[in-house]
Amino acid sequence: MLLKTETSLKLKAMPKFDLCIIGGGPAGMMAAIASSERKKKVVLIEKNDDLGSKLLLTGGGRCNITHAGLTKKEFVSKFGKQGDFLLSSLSLFGVEELIEFFKKRGLLLTIEGEKVYPKTESSKEVLNFFKTELRKNKVTVLTNSEVKDFLFKDKKIEKVLLSSGEEVFADNFLIATGGKSYPSTGSTGDGYAFVKKMGHKIAELKPALTPIETKEKWVVALKGLTLHNVGIKLNNEKPILGEVLFTHFGISGPTILNLSERVESKDKIHIDLFPKKNIEELEEEIIALFESNFKKTINNILSEIVPFKLLSIILNFSDIQKEEICRNITKEQRKKLLKNLKGIELNVIGLLGFDKAMVTKGGISLKEIDAKNMKSKLVNNLYFAGEVIDLNGESGGYNLQMSFTTGYTVAQNI
Ligand SMILES: Cc1cc2nc3c(=O)[nH]c(=O)nc-3n(C[C@H](O)[C@H](O)[C@H](O)COP(=O)(O)OP(=O)(O)OC[C@H]3O[C@@H](n4cnc5c(N)ncnc54)[C@H](O)[C@@H]3O)c2cc1C
Repeated sequence: MLLKTETSLKLKAMPKFDLCIIGGGPAGMMAAIASSERKKKVVLIEKNDDLGSKLLLTGGGRCNITHAGLTKKEFVSKFGKQGDFLLSSLSLFGVEELIEFFKKRGLLLTIEGEKVYPKTESSKEVLNFFKTELRKNKVTVLTNSEVKDFLFKDKKIEKVLLSSGEEVFADNFLIATGGKSYPSTGSTGDGYAFVKKMGHKIAELKPALTPIETKEKWVVALKGLTLHNVGIKLNNEKPILGEVLFTHFGISGPTILNLSERVESKDKIHIDLFPKKNIEELEEEIIALFESNFKKTINNILSEIVPFKLLSIILNFSDIQKEEICRNITKEQRKKLLKNLKGIELNVIGLLGFDKAMVTKGGISLKEIDAKNMKSKLVNNLYFAGEVIDLNGESGGYNLQMSFTTGYTVAQNI
């Protein structure tokens, strides 16, 4: 990190750069490293006092870098209809190339399922990796430096103006200012305002990958509990298999975040704890369990198959006392219990907004960006990378890969 005074000193003697990058997130840092490795003179401008604030939060602090095991076509399908835009840049710098990029420079990785993390499972290590590479490649990093405006000469951007009043000159400019989600990390949507002024269209901005707030207050008691491999049914849709993380306001976790795009207030979500069994099969099993443990309490028996905290809630909904002896459970109580085990109901109040959305849906219109090099079709020396573009993927490492891929692509084309 440069101190403010160092920044000012550096600026006085600052040359004209080949590439000026606005935004020190994953997209900007990748572009800076890849470009400086090609012997370009690069300046990376970040308004926070340090780089990569959002990167530190990724994957719950573990940083889900990318998603392995898919073909390029499958990978881009995780970005919906817009995904094909990424095919060209992914051919240049896809999942394998990203993994190789990290390995070659000494960052060890591990794969969990198909999700790729740093071996230390620490996003801080990933950020330190980037900082080391930036230093090694002599990128000029200006922190505490907010870009306020872009100034033009002869229909090209000549320089950017910082809030300090200082100016940075370059031949090419890259906007990598992120989206509007988690504004506390510095992603406050500045890039949209800059490019709108230049004539670019912005596809409507909405929070995406958003936790869901529920009416049920009992979720508070389950805060932090994750249910794996449960069935999740939105209204009358076909259930999907996945995980549910309970929070103090409702539910979250990768499956819920992916589902959130289709969720509206007043929707109902049912969670099936035993999705692989139908209700008759489950009933048979429960009866057998009760018969072979007829003297034990229901709490004792069911805690072997249902997480403890959730069990008291389910028993409560089924009008069964925790200390009830198995042989005393009535048929009516058993039916209620089965109904709850196969479908705990949650009523949606709504989605949490930009403050807690993992990514932004919408952004700089893809129609005005050249997919081969991420160059603006309106301004000759302007490029885009990362979340500021109208691309948002599912949860699972897709969004970071997109940021790295687009950042790298810009670097190869300057
Ligand atoms: C809680 C959370 C967890 C996530 N987990 C994952 C995960 O595990 N895997 C995954 O793939 N994705 C994850 N994401 C999404 C991922 O973090 C983003 O897709 C990614 O950070 C986008 O990178 P970016 O470089 O485009 O933008 P950002 O990371 O938003 O970086 C943009 C930077 O630009 C700076 N900036 C903005 N305006 C200006 C300006 N005017 N002047 C100077 N600097 C400016 C900002 O301060 C910021 O540092 C997560 C997101 C959140 C919020």
